[in-house]
Amino acid sequence: MTRTLFGTALAVALLAAVPATAQSPVGDPAALETAAAAWVQLSNAARFEVLTAQLTAAGLPFEVQAFEGGTARTGPLEGRNVIVTLGAGPRDIVLIAHYDAVPLNGGAFSQGIVDNAGGVLAMITAAKALQAGVAGQPFLHRFVFVLTDQEELGLIGASKWLEVADRARIAAVINADVAAYGETIMYGENNGPQSTGVLRALRLQCAERATTCIGFPVYPPSDDRVFTAAGLPVLSLGTQDAIGAHQMWLAFNGGEAPGLQEGFVPPVFQRIHSAGDHLDLFDGEAVHRFGGFLADLALRIARAE
Ligand SMILES: [Zn+2]
Repeated sequence: MTRTLFGTALAVALLAAVPATAQSPVGDPAALETAAAAWVQLSNAARFEVLTAQLTAAGLPFEVQAFEGGTARTGPLEGRNVIVTLGAGPRDIVLIAHYDAVPLNGGAFSQGIVDNAGGVLAMITAAKALQAGVAGQPFLHRFVFVLTDQEELGLIGASKWLEVADRARIAAVINADVAAYGETIMYGENNGPQSTGVLRALRLQCAERATTCIGFPVYPPSDDRVFTAAGLPVLSLGTQDAIGAHQMWLAFNGGEAPGLQEGFVPPVFQRIHSAGDHLDLFDGEAVHRFGGFLADLALRIARAE
């Protein structure tokens, strides 16, 4: 009995000594919540360390693409994309989520949970699901996860990755940005006529899963725009609670009289890029569900191509 108690105490102590960054984020909603807490950092360099530690803990091998980035405002600034490639085949389904967050006034740093640790953790969840599925299978497609840096500086990481990618391999691109809570999936319908086929696949999946998905004729830009401009088929997705998703739809698509109060800003736009983008908003259930949705969507598109 004593020995068992000692053993238990030691195990608890060992668990407590493992930093959240080094625990696998995948498996269940609780693991995702623990993982999300590790993303509260003071720089994008620290977020890179969290990301790579969590990929390692999840058993997902990755490569790092360093690039010379930055803007006129920041000056030259090295960035780092993190790339996970699964399976083999002649063409690629590319899955994108940016991991960088924004500095705030007064030297603070956004927690960047909604924008976009949630999206990254959903992608890690999807990658882990696909890794099991593609093992030893002769797939027609690879799944290439590109976790980008410097999205917030002007989609720089995504642009740098596409500069060196073999575009002829890219069958479709799925981007996830702003995804830490809510059961409603938002998607853009403004990614060019080349995206008609992937939009159909998305809508079919929403119908089959009885998931509420809202198409936005005008959807705010993210890394997707880099691929849209290159003429590639692209889906850009996010999640929110139903009210927030509809308010955002009205704000972007409601025209002159959207029916929103004068000066109304959808809550998500009050949160992102501010101190309001906070860990408290993270919902492990929602991100877990969205990760599964992304994996199935990638498989569906891979089969249809
Ligand atoms: Zn974002």
